[in-house]
Amino acid sequence: MDAAPHAPRKQHLIDPEICIRCNTCEETCPVDAITHDDNNYVVDAAKCNFCLDCISPCPTGSIDNWRVVARSYTIEEQFGWQELPAQDELAAADAGAEAEDEEVAKLIAEAHAGSGGKAVAPKSASKPTINLYNRSRPARAIVTGNFRLTDPDADNDVRHIILDFGDASLPVLEGQSIGIIPPGSDTDGKPHTIRLYSVASSRDGERPKHNNLALTVKREPQGLCSNYLCDLKKGDVVQVTGPFGATFLMPDDPSANIMMICTGTGAAPFRGFTERRRRTMRDAPGRMMIFFGARRPEELPYFGPLQKVPDGLLRKHFAYSRVPDRPKTYVQDRMRASADEVSAFLRHDRTHIYICGLKGMETGVDEALADICRGSDIDWAALRADLRAQGRYHVETY
Ligand code: FAD
Repeated sequence: MDAAPHAPRKQHLIDPEICIRCNTCEETCPVDAITHDDNNYVVDAAKCNFCLDCISPCPTGSIDNWRVVARSYTIEEQFGWQELPAQDELAAADAGAEAEDEEVAKLIAEAHAGSGGKAVAPKSASKPTINLYNRSRPARAIVTGNFRLTDPDADNDVRHIILDFGDASLPVLEGQSIGIIPPGSDTDGKPHTIRLYSVASSRDGERPKHNNLALTVKREPQGLCSNYLCDLKKGDVVQVTGPFGATFLMPDDPSANIMMICTGTGAAPFRGFTERRRRTMRDAPGRMMIFFGARRPEELPYFGPLQKVPDGLLRKHFAYSRVPDRPKTYVQDRMRASADEVSAFLRHDRTHIYICGLKGMETGVDEALADICRGSDIDWAALRADLRAQGRYHVETY
């Protein structure tokens, strides 16, 4: 910490347990307050001006952490962390008697609430539980299933993995993620970084009324955690943290329209959304539509089961970029080809847009939405700002 104490103030910190070291925050920060070493991404308190530009692009939410401090943590201290220090100890030890002060109490309450955020949850969404389990206190799950979702001859191995939590309570909402602690440590003896995976089932379990959930995991070449998960056998035990995510949530409003745009394992949360509607709001007046991109049908997770979901519940648009003798088609091309349907959704004041999948897909999707709006006399820039402010535009890319 700084040598000199000062009046208690908020300090912006990054949670090393959740951070996936993707560099997005460092690229985004306009005042170069964010830096990193081999261990952690950290915020320099002397430079951070609380502009919050880094909050929204962070794919994990690890960026949105705040502590009230009497002395700021130095970047060197933060480089050494495996987890965030607790707020309460700080308030008691460093703010001393002033911790009781109304102003400090207000700061601490604000710090716990996060940045006030630029991403907003849907108004009707249920209240999520977050950070119930961490590295020092993980939940223990037993693998009850591990099935390959892609064709045996497909290049990619995507798995549907079911985890059962037994007596442990791990309440999740559709759209949230959990953390997986890969066993072992790196060459420096430090425990491996936790990886996040979207929950692919609905809140009442992969199997209704069971204390389990499903993940959709793609095996990455030489990827540490994805290979660990994809190789799990029935009965294996997995250490889990979370749940994480407080904004990429499903509206609980049956009249809400939901437009979902995804590639690859980005379909995971949307499987949860679809299951939720199918189980509890089958006759919902709101409509659901998905634009789903893959290289070939054989590589599209849940291709078979998705075909069976009735169109009345879920309107499906597939885009394939590597089918022999067919032009390369991406999700944004399918969106443009369905411009009438998309613009009808956009004109509806209860439409929510969700984008999930590969980092970088947002730009192409955004351009397609702008083109569709141009052809329909809608001001996309203004509409997108409204959608964001109202918690109706949600992006999760990794
Ligand atoms: P890492 O070991 O971290 O490697 C990262 C990359 O480097 C991989 O692409 C790997 O192929 C490559 N690499 C590693 N070592 C080498 C090497 N020696 N040579 C060449 N290349 C190498 N993923 C999913 O599958 N499903 C999900 O639902 C999902 N949800 C997510 C939700 C959120 C909010 C976020 C942030 C991420 C999500 N991810 C999801 C991504 C996931 O967290 C992991 O990043 C992913 O599984 C890769 O982790 P890994 O440990 O296997 O790869």
